[in-house]
Amino acid sequence: MRHIAIIGSGPAGYYSAEAAQKKFGDDVAVDIIDRLPVPFGLIRTGVAPDHQSIKAVSRRYEKTNLGENVRFVGNVTVGEDVSVAELQDLYDAVVLATGAPHDRKLEIPGSDLDGVIGSAAFVGWYNGHPDFKDLNPPLDGRSVAIIGNGNVALDVARILAKTESEFAGSDIVGHALDQLKESKVQKITLLGRRGPHQIAMTPKELGELGHLERARPLVDPLDFPDEGADALLEPGMRKSVTHLRSFYERAGELLDKPVKIDFDFFAMPVEIQGDGKVEKIIVEKTALDKDMRSAGTGERYELDCRMVISCIGYRTPPIEGVPYEHGRGRFANTDGRILPGLYCVGWARRGPSGTIGTNKPDGFAIVDAIAEDIGSGDRKEGRKGLDRLFEKRGVETVTFRDWKKIEEAEIARAREGSPREKFTDIADMIAARD
Ligand code: NAP
Repeated sequence: MRHIAIIGSGPAGYYSAEAAQKKFGDDVAVDIIDRLPVPFGLIRTGVAPDHQSIKAVSRRYEKTNLGENVRFVGNVTVGEDVSVAELQDLYDAVVLATGAPHDRKLEIPGSDLDGVIGSAAFVGWYNGHPDFKDLNPPLDGRSVAIIGNGNVALDVARILAKTESEFAGSDIVGHALDQLKESKVQKITLLGRRGPHQIAMTPKELGELGHLERARPLVDPLDFPDEGADALLEPGMRKSVTHLRSFYERAGELLDKPVKIDFDFFAMPVEIQGDGKVEKIIVEKTALDKDMRSAGTGERYELDCRMVISCIGYRTPPIEGVPYEHGRGRFANTDGRILPGLYCVGWARRGPSGTIGTNKPDGFAIVDAIAEDIGSGDRKEGRKGLDRLFEKRGVETVTFRDWKKIEEAEIARAREGSPREKFTDIADMIAARD
């Protein structure tokens, strides 16, 4: 029997487990370890609550977990309850599928002011991540600046712009919905340091902005190259740019919507100012250099705002003893191999890019590498050894069956029309399974 430990129960972790089931059949035992008592990582706490169809992929992961040879071991912090080295002693292969839950740092003066929030915290807040349930973002100002032109920036802008009724059918947590209902935000500015042809927003997500109940997206046609240049873009990008252009064309039709979502292109934040809390952001106009990078022009303008949310990408937190690539914010690896017996997959391997589905080929590739490396030599002890260690240390784990009870309780306490009301306290999650 091969023994594999996967750390992290998000998409990369579950696709790797599914691949191991398919590759090794009954000759494998996989333990998926997670810090939280609840599985699915980014699907639960990253994917926007109003994108339920994307979240539905968790049904596929559930199927993987219903196989006898895959086990969810929740409520375990690797590095505290057990070390990576101990797991390596117990399992034939240890796979780090820890994602990239930390924000890439916004390195401009004033980024430590009250009201500057990273997307990990803001997204975690509206998605009920226990670490961010008490964020209380300042929604009392009329104006918010969002830094970045990726899909996370779009998610954040959309969530800030929606009305209560537009959250029907979503699983946005009650505390966030209550606070958003009282929001005073009327102007959301998306600051992109490059132009419309350099956005990292996908068409479906961008298209949604054009159909909001009370918000209208605004672009400046002078930021766009000639329309003929769109033909050179790859098809997905061309569609996104067509959506952006349509925002201008439809500006008159959307005029009566009170909340503005302004796209400021060629706009590089250089400083955030305020007396203890955010009052304004200073932006430098940019132009593209010959390598299509943004270069400051020296021309500056100010935006008054009470909150700045930086959506500029994520990093994988380092783990002591595991080689790490600081520049790229991920584990140092060659095609997922870190050290003998130690692997990484998903965002922890390649950095925070791609869709949920990108993790599937990643998971299958890492299992191929494991199969090649561990061959048919002696096997390690696996989960029996882990259980013994946890018993000795008094570590209280949560099983998949426990999770199903927690899930049932979350469904039972849902507000009308919502699929669930998530527990945001770890103690409440654990109590719900008892
Ligand atoms: P992203 O796609 O990498 O976008 C990051 C954005 O931040 C880029 O516009 C980048 O501009 C900008 N940026 C980076 N550093 C900056 C700085 N110092 N100052 C100003 N701007 C800066 O990252 P993301 O939005 O966090 O998304 C992560 C991944 O999750 C992506 O693959 C995304 O597609 C995916 N995702 C998908 C969905 C969905 O499918 N619905 C939803 C959310 C996230 P430059 O281009 O100039 O570097």
